[in-house]
Amino acid sequence: MNTAPAKISTVKEIYALPLAAYLMTASDVVHSLEVSIDTGLTTEEAKSRLEQVGPNELELYRQKSLLQLFLEQFKSPLAWVLALASALAFGFGEDLEAIAILVVILINAIIGFAMEWQAMSSMEALRQLTQTFARVYRNGKLVEVETAGLVPGDVVYLEAGDIPAADMRLLETVNLGVNESALTGESVAVSKQIEPIAATTVLGDQRNMLFRGTVVSRGNARAVVVRTGSRTEIGKIADLAQRASKEVTPLEKKLSKLSQKLIWLALALALMILVIGLLQGRDIFLMIEMAIALAIAAVPEGLPVVATIALARGMLRLARQQVIVKKLSAVETLGETQVIITDKTGTLTENQLLPDVMGFEFGTAGVHFQGEQLVLDDPADRYLLQTYAHSQLQHVAVLCNNASLDEHPSGPGTGDPLEIALLKMVAGSDTAPAAIRDAYSRIREIPFDSERKMMGTLHKNGRRPDYLVCIKGAMEILLRESDYILTVDGKIPLSETQRRAWMDKADTLAAKGLRVLGFGYSEIPVPKADFFENIVFIGFVGFLDPPRQTVKSAIDRCKAAGVQVVMATGDHPETAKNIGLKTGLIGFAESPVIKGPDIKPPAELSEREKQRLLSARIFARVNPAQKLHLVDLFQQEGFIVGMTGDGVNDAPALKKADIGIAMGSRGTEAAKEASDLVLKDDQFASITEAIRQGRGIFTNIRHFVIYLISCNLSELLIVAGAYLSNLALPLFPLQILFMNMVTDVFPALALGMNRVDDGVMERPPRGKGEPIITPHAWRAIIEYALALTVATIGAFLWAIYYLQLGDAPANNFAFYTIIIAQLWHVFNLPDPHQSFWRNAITRNPYVWMALAGSILIMLLAYWIAPLQAALHLVPFRMEWLGWVLLFSITPVMMVRIARLLRL
Ligand code: ATP
Repeated sequence: MNTAPAKISTVKEIYALPLAAYLMTASDVVHSLEVSIDTGLTTEEAKSRLEQVGPNELELYRQKSLLQLFLEQFKSPLAWVLALASALAFGFGEDLEAIAILVVILINAIIGFAMEWQAMSSMEALRQLTQTFARVYRNGKLVEVETAGLVPGDVVYLEAGDIPAADMRLLETVNLGVNESALTGESVAVSKQIEPIAATTVLGDQRNMLFRGTVVSRGNARAVVVRTGSRTEIGKIADLAQRASKEVTPLEKKLSKLSQKLIWLALALALMILVIGLLQGRDIFLMIEMAIALAIAAVPEGLPVVATIALARGMLRLARQQVIVKKLSAVETLGETQVIITDKTGTLTENQLLPDVMGFEFGTAGVHFQGEQLVLDDPADRYLLQTYAHSQLQHVAVLCNNASLDEHPSGPGTGDPLEIALLKMVAGSDTAPAAIRDAYSRIREIPFDSERKMMGTLHKNGRRPDYLVCIKGAMEILLRESDYILTVDGKIPLSETQRRAWMDKADTLAAKGLRVLGFGYSEIPVPKADFFENIVFIGFVGFLDPPRQTVKSAIDRCKAAGVQVVMATGDHPETAKNIGLKTGLIGFAESPVIKGPDIKPPAELSEREKQRLLSARIFARVNPAQKLHLVDLFQQEGFIVGMTGDGVNDAPALKKADIGIAMGSRGTEAAKEASDLVLKDDQFASITEAIRQGRGIFTNIRHFVIYLISCNLSELLIVAGAYLSNLALPLFPLQILFMNMVTDVFPALALGMNRVDDGVMERPPRGKGEPIITPHAWRAIIEYALALTVATIGAFLWAIYYLQLGDAPANNFAFYTIIIAQLWHVFNLPDPHQSFWRNAITRNPYVWMALAGSILIMLLAYWIAPLQAALHLVPFRMEWLGWVLLFSITPVMMVRIARLLRL
């Protein structure tokens, strides 16, 4: 229980350490913070401290107030141009026109505000999803708490890959190394100590402290939190606030580039129309207003914010499917991904690890679980389990292990799945892991890392005066380290022939898809730093780790989508190949498997070697540095690469990849921090889903842009066409503004929210840096705009010459035709290969709502007197409506016919 004599009650007291924590002894710090190192704080105490000191968060995300957001809408150039137009209208005595323009400014601001607010709240929801956790002692138990809930006095357990979430004073360390480059710029791991430091020193020399934002690169530690939130060293760094400045995604950059181009185009066209109109002697004010309306029409200024909404909504949708996207730009890159380099264990496989076979010098036995009990496949093998070797294997399995089981052994356990599996194996043979751990206290540990592929521990050897060394790891490493082998009669030297025979055995098991782990031990008289000597090889355990059921179809989908999947695993080549075959990654058993050492930095590879690596699908016994070389190689060949990883050493490769993908449940904090994507369920299939969404979102944005530009271009063409043929005006400036600010916006927004259809996974990825509007899309835009123009001018001429209408009703005739034609126009956008009736757009409820909304607004405009006057609407006869509908549907028909002729 907490041994604190009295409760600390004020913030000041909590932070009132008599000296800086690094100058004090660990026990003084713990004492000052009134906490017990073994039990940590109680939940109530932690809660009360949290209330006093506030959440452990950096104040990076200061939100704009809603009023600020609304007022910002009036800052846009568009609002200024419209204000100018309104002022001009007043000047020319067109009061109604002037007020109408002011209303347009207001409506536009409201729409802009609503969109930005939506974008902002989506971003906030996403930020909430990226919560991180820390392992903390509370009420005597090691539990995971959200890092925002850490308080001074919390005793935290950290191991390789963790990112300290507050500033802490170290209490115990095991071979601890910390990368503090985030604070000091020094990228070499610093070793740590627990002794106090004699004099005041700089951060980099405070060797007994752990700072927020650094990375534990090896070993493990216990530490007590001394400062949280913005009081931490990193929280004090002023320029951090800049990091929070809004990220501009490449997509947004592309969109603003496109907008700029369109602005110039619009200005040129508007000017041309102004000049022609003036030459034709038309009304000056009307011409200026028309030029402004057309210029505004051509500028799709809502583009960036719609893109943000589409991206953010995509991210939220992915979050529901257990994929956390950390950067907006990742959604876009996902759609371009051409190669995915994935690890095997836990991503392609279940990672549930069931022991299947145990092997010793004197025999091998098949095993399986029956409930929680580990039983032999053949009871005749019982003798194996009664040997000293089996008992030693159990000791190593438990001692050389950092995992722990839940109170009930069937619980999921905490720690590395392989180590949990080992504990369950021992517990299943009626031996209590806790009893072994109690009898052999641990003195030192050489933690597992995927570079070394093994782990070692040193223990007090029970009641004996000497010390027990335990080692477990990949078979080839164990056999290399071992000098002896344990037989029924004790240890004998391990010959080279035996080594080879054991390697062959391991290969055979691996070829069946088993994950094979070797075990060894030794007894040494005195403890040493490098304690691997006279190792005795005990035997191995082979674990079944079947592929996840969803993987095969996910890999097939990637293939169909032109995404190449490559496995890069730390496991044995034969195990890798077996899983590759089962998941359909490779098609036949002869497919080559490249081993880690063959992967060198691209500069050291010959052209032939490069081609060999680029065409391979499986890389085995790969270490993190080699993963980095692989990413490099693929990138140099121009591929967009996604890469998965979980360990602290994977961080550089994850950062280098275009899309770094970390595993949420088994990944380290360091890997998550370095990644763009976190898969909460560690499943490969989620990557495929993320790619699908990424592509879908881009397609939606493209549809949205094509829709808006083609509508706007048609308006330009209609007015220009009418001028050139010296007709009356088919559209008035305010009508154009009305369409662009009101009726067009909803269908366009709805297009940005289309559900992603499966068609996107039947095409190869977009090329790197492909523009939003490809030449092909430009052709489509021009085609659509022409169809809309022909229909509207046709309707206008029909009204004048066939129906013999006057200027005003003929203008209304054209106005209604173009509005409705633009609504129909959304149905031109689905992929030409999709059914006209059933596609992503017809299935999108937002599209239908948007169409209904736009029609409703149009009816309101017709009925509300001031709007009616501003839009120059005159009474419209029902019998004309049939003609309007007919003309308005012709663009869709024209486009269909053109497609049929082309196909
Ligand atoms: P992947 O890279 O696909 O996740 P992996 O988990 O096998 O595969 P690593 O974690 O790099 O890759 O492990 C490499 C090898 O090290 C394993 O094949 C196993 O033999 C050994 N190994 C894995 N975990 C441990 C551990 N906790 N202790 C000792 N050895 C281990």
